[in-house]
Amino acid sequence: MVNPSGPGALVLVATPIGNLGDLSARASQELSTADIIACEDTRRTGRLLSLAGIGRRPLLRLDDHTETARAAEVVTRIERGERVVLVSDAGMPAISDPGERLVHAVAAAGLTIEVVPGPSAVVTALAGSGLPTQRFCFEGFLPRRPGERASRLAVLADEARTMVFYESPHRLAATLADLATAFGVDRPVVVARELTKLHEQWWRGPAAAAATWASEESPRGELVIVVEGAPPAPQPTAGDLEAMVVAALARGGSVKEVATEVAAGHGVSRREVYALAVRLAGASRRPGGVPVEGGRDDGHH
Ligand code: SAM
Repeated sequence: MVNPSGPGALVLVATPIGNLGDLSARASQELSTADIIACEDTRRTGRLLSLAGIGRRPLLRLDDHTETARAAEVVTRIERGERVVLVSDAGMPAISDPGERLVHAVAAAGLTIEVVPGPSAVVTALAGSGLPTQRFCFEGFLPRRPGERASRLAVLADEARTMVFYESPHRLAATLADLATAFGVDRPVVVARELTKLHEQWWRGPAAAAATWASEESPRGELVIVVEGAPPAPQPTAGDLEAMVVAALARGGSVKEVATEVAAGHGVSRREVYALAVRLAGASRRPGGVPVEGGRDDGHH
């Protein structure tokens, strides 16, 4: 059936993450007028429609396993002028849920994509965390395999932005212990549990204490972990900077290379380190100067 109200589109509709009252009027409207609703679990979405008083609608199962195969069918439907609504089991589709590949396919076909915004655990937890919100990164679920998990955490150890992770209850304590090891026992952590539901809970404190709390209490339900970013690295003293430049010149770097390397690693202006490197490289060539071997002054920057 072609929707008479307009051309075809893929419409991503956010659904409640626990509290039915969070289903927006616009979300209800889209669900009740969709030509077809693509959803992860037809029973679950059928229940949402009935609770919201929308009644039966045509449903198309689209989960992690079927998403790629279904994309061509959805594209054809939209080309025919249908409004295809995409929902996931809860929250915003395509956020740690099926949808990303479908949206990519629809965008690649040059078709319309609309989003009806609404509940999502990542933003809900971040906003209530009390940790800095100006810059943040969403990490979804950490890899389960120990090697992959360790390398992901190593990459994140110096991340200065607030980090948001999804986690399941039976892995919470182990994950918090991994975070304390990777980021330091005192790193501020917030665990947001059962957001928008009856037993909503916020636990705030240092990473190691969070791990102890989780292993003692075994909190159940759905969880988001929010972690404060790494504190800025302490600025090196003038003496430290000089020693680093001397050492880098001695390893044979040009003043340009030395300036780039030392400045990038220590949050210092490259111009400042360049001037220092020029002075020290020059001094090393004068009798009684700083002993630098192998430092090349390439004369430009
Ligand atoms: N698409 C969803 C969204 O926009 O938030 C996320 C789906 S992901 C498969 C499910 C994970 O989201 C859960 O394991 C949990 O980490 C988090 N989550 C979902 N609902 C939540 C809630 N009510 N309270 C806390 N975390 C929740």
